[in-house]
Amino acid sequence: MSDDNEKKESLNFIEQIITSDLKEEKHSDIITRFPPEPNGYLHIGHAKSICLNFGLGKTFSGITNLRFDDTNPTKEDVEYVESIKEDIKWLGFEWNDKPYYTSDYFDELYDFAIMLIKKEKAYVCELSAEETSEYRGTPTKPGNESPWRNRSVEENLELFAKMKTGEIAEGKMMLRAKIDMSSPNMHMRDPIIYRILQVPHDRTGDKWNIYPMYDFAHGQSDYLEGITHSICTLEFEVHRPLYDWFLDQLAEKGRTRPRQIEFARLNLSYTVMSKRKLLQLVEENLVNGWDDPRMPTISGFRRRGYTPESMRNFADKVGVARRDGIIDVALLEHSIREDLNKKANRVMGVLNPLKLTITNYPEGQSEELEAINNPEDESQGTRMLPFSKNLYIEQDDFMEDAPRKFFRLSVGREVRLRYAYFVTCNEIVKDENGKVIELLCTYDPASKGGKSPDGRKVKGTLHWADAKSSIKAKVNLYDRLFLTENPDIVEEGKDFKSNINLNSLTTIDAFIEPSVLNANIEDKFQFERLGYFCVDKDSTKEDIIFNRTVTLRDSWAKIAKKK
Ligand code: ATP
Ligand code: MG
Repeated sequence: MSDDNEKKESLNFIEQIITSDLKEEKHSDIITRFPPEPNGYLHIGHAKSICLNFGLGKTFSGITNLRFDDTNPTKEDVEYVESIKEDIKWLGFEWNDKPYYTSDYFDELYDFAIMLIKKEKAYVCELSAEETSEYRGTPTKPGNESPWRNRSVEENLELFAKMKTGEIAEGKMMLRAKIDMSSPNMHMRDPIIYRILQVPHDRTGDKWNIYPMYDFAHGQSDYLEGITHSICTLEFEVHRPLYDWFLDQLAEKGRTRPRQIEFARLNLSYTVMSKRKLLQLVEENLVNGWDDPRMPTISGFRRRGYTPESMRNFADKVGVARRDGIIDVALLEHSIREDLNKKANRVMGVLNPLKLTITNYPEGQSEELEAINNPEDESQGTRMLPFSKNLYIEQDDFMEDAPRKFFRLSVGREVRLRYAYFVTCNEIVKDENGKVIELLCTYDPASKGGKSPDGRKVKGTLHWADAKSSIKAKVNLYDRLFLTENPDIVEEGKDFKSNINLNSLTTIDAFIEPSVLNANIEDKFQFERLGYFCVDKDSTKEDIIFNRTVTLRDSWAKIAKKK
């Protein structure tokens, strides 16, 4: 599997384009950018875009800008700006210089608009929102020209200035590019380039009562920053002629113009990705905030126990495509298992405890047994595990009426307790409802370390927890947040939330070996036989909370094997 340091054998189509641009000496240096709108936390689709853009910067020894597309002050927030910066750093990337903001270019963009007006390529339009959409026509029917389309340059300049100073109410006027109302491309039908929004902006205060539309700001911001390759998702392919049209009018001769290249956005099965929908989940308390470990946000994955390496490897494996598709979430889960298998130390923990008492083990005695920290990484060494008469095993490692092939415990059967001893179950204790609450076992003192004393074999090896020395920890068992592969497909009258898995979080108390008391927040462990778990950020020294990152069962590895 690919490693960060491993050289890639073949170039993807974007790398091929850049390579040939460099060969043709179109540019001497490559500049890419990642342009999030600070209206929510970043999700794994953004992670894909970050890895792609920053990755291209690295591959071609260029630079990558971070630019906040902050053109809509009604939806944007500094909390989001901070979280975005943190997520990019956590993923392991560094932006060039300082973060840029589209709002840094409001003056230039305004001047561009004036230039268009002076060239008779823009006009102040007074159609209402409904009228505007009526006049636009449909993809199969040409639009109609606005009655305000042929105002004089002077009048346009005067009205645009008034829009800016706040003398004109919201919704009364807008500035539109004068292109072609009968273009087969709807984006070319006199698109709106400035709208009145009489709201202050985080970074420009109340200087502006008008704000540029995304389409007017985006390409020009790329141009102003000298971006050479402007990578974006496929839905912007149809906007490209418009971006080119703007720069045809506005760009200086000889100055670098961004080359836009589109790729398919990442979609994941069992996941919704749109920030608007993620915001709904947060606002309606369907999850516990943006960094809830069930959220597909970068901060959610981080809290869940995903590593930056696993996310970068995932982005790599997904690759870049020119056609939309849905990636199996099992591939993402495979990526984190692959990484944690190498990195996470093993510990013993029992999630659903069943008492196991070793009747022939001396009362009051205890001993320490050596356990390997990570069989995949010898350098991690070993640790000592306390062991005594009273233990816990997992409830489902015992069966009263066990079939022959059940290799765990049942009355009369012998198993290995990992790193400890062979034990045989002799008797069971039931409560008044007939539920098994305790197993009475004997151990073979000659099997210390779990080694067979005489060549006799046991089929099963169980994990266990020592009752006295184990700590009680809260464990959050997470399951997928959505029940269906594509949560956006819903019955009439319902929305994506109808596909939510109401049992996506189960919190239990578990017994974990005492070594985890030294763990720090975000430390990751494999609980033997159970899965990978990560110390939650709300843990304290006394009360450790674990989040289950992922179970051990790797359905992707199985699929990949079959192929
Ligand atoms: P959403 O539609 O999920 O709310 P967005 O596209 O509006 O996301 P932006 O903040 O505008 O979010 O996106 C920043 C960058 O991330 C853009 O270049 C965008 O193309 C890219 N991006 C967003 N979602 C995905 C995705 N699912 N896969 C790949 N890239 C994405
Ligand atoms: Mg967007």
